Amino acid sequence: MKLGDPLLTSRPPRACKVCGSPDKTDFQVPNDVWKTVVPTEFQNKVVCVECFGKFACEKQVDLFRVYKETSGFGLNK
Ligand SMILES: [Zn+2]
Repeated sequence: MKLGDPLLTSRPPRACKVCGSPDKTDFQVPNDVWKTVVPTEFQNKVVCVECFGKFACEKQVDLFRVYKETSGFGLNK
C-alpha cells in the first residue's frame, strides 16, 4: 500500500450508513432483533455495532439478551 493508492480514497463498501465508519460492521443479530432495533430507513443498509447499540438504547432493547442469543447459540441443549 502506498500513498495515493486508489483503495485509500474510495469508500469501503461496508461502511456504516449512519456514522460512515468502515469498522465494526462485521456482526450479526437475529432478523427479528434487527427489525426491532434498526429504523426502517437503515434496515437494508450497513449499520456498525456502535450505531446498532445506540438504536438499541433508544428502543430500550436488552442487549444482553441479544448477545446471549447470538453468541451462545446451541449451548443450552
Ligand atoms: Zn455507525
